[in-house]
Amino acid sequence: MFDYLIVGCGFAGSVLAERLASQLNKKVLIIDRRNHIAGNAYDYYNEHGILVHKYGPHIFHTNSKEIFMYLSRFTQWRPYEHHVLASVDGQLVPIPINLNTINALYNLDLDTSSVTDYLKSRSENISPVATAEDVVVNSVGKDLYEKFFKTYTKKQWDMDPSELDPSVTARVPARNNRDNRYFTDTYQSMPLHGYTAMFNNMLSHPNIQIMLNADFKDIKNSIPHKATIFTGPIDYFFDYCYGKLPYRSIDFAFETLETENFQACGTVNYPLTQLYTRITEFKKLTGQIHPKTTVVYEYPTDKGDPYYPIPKKENQSLYNRYRDLALSFPNVYFTGRLGTYKYYNMDQVIAQSLALFKKIASSDRLPLEG
Ligand code: FAD
Ligand code: UDP
Repeated sequence: MFDYLIVGCGFAGSVLAERLASQLNKKVLIIDRRNHIAGNAYDYYNEHGILVHKYGPHIFHTNSKEIFMYLSRFTQWRPYEHHVLASVDGQLVPIPINLNTINALYNLDLDTSSVTDYLKSRSENISPVATAEDVVVNSVGKDLYEKFFKTYTKKQWDMDPSELDPSVTARVPARNNRDNRYFTDTYQSMPLHGYTAMFNNMLSHPNIQIMLNADFKDIKNSIPHKATIFTGPIDYFFDYCYGKLPYRSIDFAFETLETENFQACGTVNYPLTQLYTRITEFKKLTGQIHPKTTVVYEYPTDKGDPYYPIPKKENQSLYNRYRDLALSFPNVYFTGRLGTYKYYNMDQVIAQSLALFKKIASSDRLPLEG
């Protein structure tokens, strides 16, 4: 008899497995339908010996000391600040849009104060800011919106930005300084030996058993457990009884080249004509020294694994119906990007699971069997 059956070996499930096993002495079975742990953060050495991220580039960044210290129990770090260039009008310029971007793009020589005035003169006063288009046009105006956001977003989501929640493009806010980093968080680094090694350390506890290649619905009735933590898609859990929640997926095309360096920085975004959205060169993220280099092209698609919940009002309303239904299952907890249908970064998922752990720990009474 397990105390907890945890579905999904990504951050959401693994954090809870680790906490429940080590802090509350619970017996945990954690399963995944895939053949590996670490969820979408999974990394491995490819046939050329280069460390790559199977589900696209994952860069750890957070403002939370608590989360950084928590993960530091399971890994050492490689300090790394991600830089992204966007290919626009035949140039490679920094994104998020900043002072350097505008000077390069329009051949200007503005400083922080004059770029603020410049952007003010270009931006449109939109109120209320209701869509992903409004956010950008309100901040930098139509021209920069069209160059950097309109087509990229259409490729990524198969939707015009005017149809998406403002939070989507608000992830990449413009700056009036020369800060060329993609993220501004206090803590930015990569696990020194990779994500999978870090997950191995998290899950190495005598109270934790791992079962791979196992789908929840195939095993749930044959493995006695007192409570369930579900981090897969919540609509799947409920057999899509209210209809399917939409997700966006990505085809990852990996290429290994007989050259040491491929591009100037970790990621180059292609917001305009190409079918892919971005190319990432893994060695730039991991710091690995190797005579060859592996890159990944991201082609967004509707088919395949559910990677991105789609932030949009009607999707949120549909999710809310599933969330309300979940209230009548007191022995089942939902967490994670798919379990709560939230476009969360890794640190947000960790925070969510740590919060759920605190809630469970504070009540620490296991539900009655059955
Ligand atoms: P997941 O990692 O998806 O784990 C859920 C697990 O549940 C999966 O392994 C799945 O196989 C398993 N599962 C689902 N259903 C079942 C079932 N029925 N039975 C058994 N197992 C099941 N975040 C960052 O902070 N920085 C980044 O740079 C970053 N880059 C990203 C790039 C891409 C392309 C993508 C898609 C995401 C990126 N993220 C990034 C987000 C990050 O991947 C997520 O925040 C995080 O991995 C979510 O963890 P999770 O445990 O909720 O979900
Ligand atoms: N975005 C864009 N152009 C860019 C970068 C981002 O239009 O060059 C928009 C796009 O809609 C994207 C969203 O901003 O989906 C969030 O970007 P982020 O880089 O955070 O996406 P993720 O890494 O989660 O795929």
